[in-house]
Amino acid sequence: MSHEGIRLVSAEQARREDETNRELPRDAKEPVKVRVHKTEGTGLEIDWKDGHHSSWSFAWLRQACPCATCHDEREKSGRKPGEPKPQPQILLPMYQAPPRPNVVAPVGRYALSFEWNDGHKSGIYSWDYLRRHCGCEECRAKSE
Ligand SMILES: [Zn+2]
Ligand SMILES: [Zn+2]
Repeated sequence: MSHEGIRLVSAEQARREDETNRELPRDAKEPVKVRVHKTEGTGLEIDWKDGHHSSWSFAWLRQACPCATCHDEREKSGRKPGEPKPQPQILLPMYQAPPRPNVVAPVGRYALSFEWNDGHKSGIYSWDYLRRHCGCEECRAKSE
């Protein structure tokens, strides 16, 4: 007898949920060094206590904004954090300045807040969130 069709959650989805629910080790989400390359406009780098090094571009961070509005918008369009919105096909697209933060400020001891050059500033990027979405090649390969 086949049990196919009974499972509502695909194996892939279940694996993903496991990943997000898994508690990260303490040292994996404790930053030792945080560098925001605001002037260069390149992005954010963090050295973690467990020896791992992470970096993200500002464009990625802007698209991965964890605030409720951006999160819902991504859920609806099925985008992953950091995945850019599809560009509408128009002949003369309006120039958009690449995302850059005007202000980056620590939030307590657990997160960073970004005030972006497009005026958006409701995202709180926790160490946990950042580490789970580490942009290094090794971690990206694992999450693909
Ligand atoms: Zn947002
Ligand atoms: Zn990594």
